[in-house]
Amino acid sequence: MKSLTLKLGSALFATALLGAGAVHAADFPDHSVSMVVPFSAGGPTDNVARSLSEAMRPSLGETVIVENKAGAGGTIGTSQVARAKPDGYNILLMHIGFSTAPSLYKNPGYNPDTSFEPIGLVVDVPMTIIARSDFPANNIKELIDYIKAHKDEVTLANAGIGAASQLCGTMFTSAIGVDLLTIPYKGTGPAMNDLLGKQVDLLCDQTTNTTQHIKAGTVKAYAVTSKERVPTLPDLPTMQESGYDGFEVGIWHGMWAPKDTPKPVMDKLISSLQAGMADPKFQERMAGLGAEVLTSQANPEALTAKVKQQVPQWADLFKKAGIEPQ
Ligand code: ASP
Repeated sequence: MKSLTLKLGSALFATALLGAGAVHAADFPDHSVSMVVPFSAGGPTDNVARSLSEAMRPSLGETVIVENKAGAGGTIGTSQVARAKPDGYNILLMHIGFSTAPSLYKNPGYNPDTSFEPIGLVVDVPMTIIARSDFPANNIKELIDYIKAHKDEVTLANAGIGAASQLCGTMFTSAIGVDLLTIPYKGTGPAMNDLLGKQVDLLCDQTTNTTQHIKAGTVKAYAVTSKERVPTLPDLPTMQESGYDGFEVGIWHGMWAPKDTPKPVMDKLISSLQAGMADPKFQERMAGLGAEVLTSQANPEALTAKVKQQVPQWADLFKKAGIEPQ
């Protein structure tokens, strides 16, 4: 009896000491986890998230439900996770926009350095410059000539300020020295639908969304933004090869939890991300879509270093280009 009382007493003491959250963290997760994608369903980030959520399930022991919280170039969903309860049940899958939006918006709704706990880097995805299937240009040179001659007519779709498509589109139009009418969407999933329906002319989008359409010939493709050609799209020249030296951009993706998520929960999320990324099925799917799986960088240190390097780099670049936050 005495030892039972003692055991009970010390358990209560431990609970008080660790705080209810910490004791609870040991059971994490005991129900499904929500993975927020701050863009529309059916787009490139959503494609990565759906494969990853499946791959993380066995190690997590619970379902990972992808939730699309789209809008404002990804800042709406990102800031929602920043404000979510830090219990591990709300995690974020976002890309390079995480580091560009703080320079593009006066108030993006989160601080890239202080609002989150980094889980790890996930994939790096090249972008492709594409057009509707009946667009008159057949190669990058013809594309640029056509755009220059019809700059008041050609439309360029993107997923809003802060999106990868907007970044790439702006890089492209400023490289060729034109200003096009842009049509913003909540993600490049719906932008692609309108491109397929020939309602817009151009889109710069990630291979995780464009590969299948390029291969099927339902869109015209002109170039990739990676340094080297993409093995899954070997006929597509790089921008560099096309004469645009230094035009290189890779869309890195990371995973975050809200600030102050307890360490045992973070450890579980980190190991589950690593297990998911090691899944051969996930790797095969990503390779098929032209994405590089960043296995050795699937950890908080690598993601922290990435954000630390990227936020000031983009801030500097936008400042030099005269782009003001809105
Ligand atoms: N990644 C976005 C999406 O999934 C699009 C973008 O960033 O351009 O729709």
